[in-house]
Amino acid sequence: MTDYDPGNIFARILRNEVPSARVYEDDEFVAFKDIAPKAPVHILVIPRHEGTTAPSALLESDAGWMGRMVVAATKIARAEGLDERGYRLVMNSGPDAHQEVQHIHLHILGGKSLDSMA
Ligand code: AMP
Repeated sequence: MTDYDPGNIFARILRNEVPSARVYEDDEFVAFKDIAPKAPVHILVIPRHEGTTAPSALLESDAGWMGRMVVAATKIARAEGLDERGYRLVMNSGPDAHQEVQHIHLHILGGKSLDSMA
């Protein structure tokens, strides 16, 4: 992506220029607590690689790591004790979704009964 800004806050978290409360990391992904949680458990999962700004920027060639990021999120949710009651995985893309950070990320939300989407 040509519009990826390496100075975005999540890229800075990846470089340890900004602190974060990390709950998981592997070769491909890092997960940390959201600084302004919208639920008792609110974790963000991000890929280590820079360049993908948003879901709208995904290409067919991103399907492998993107699928693995979803699977990683389910493992994190399980480790957080969310399997029994459930949780929500959310990805925001663009202004109508109020995407704030232009480094693709997956929200894990749980720990309470979330608002219905209906
Ligand atoms: P989005 O609106 O999907 O772009 O979500 C971005 C999320 O990043 C928001 O929920 C913010 O609260 C969160 N956030 C922003 N800065 C930080 C930070 N330094 N550490 C952890 N979470 C952050």
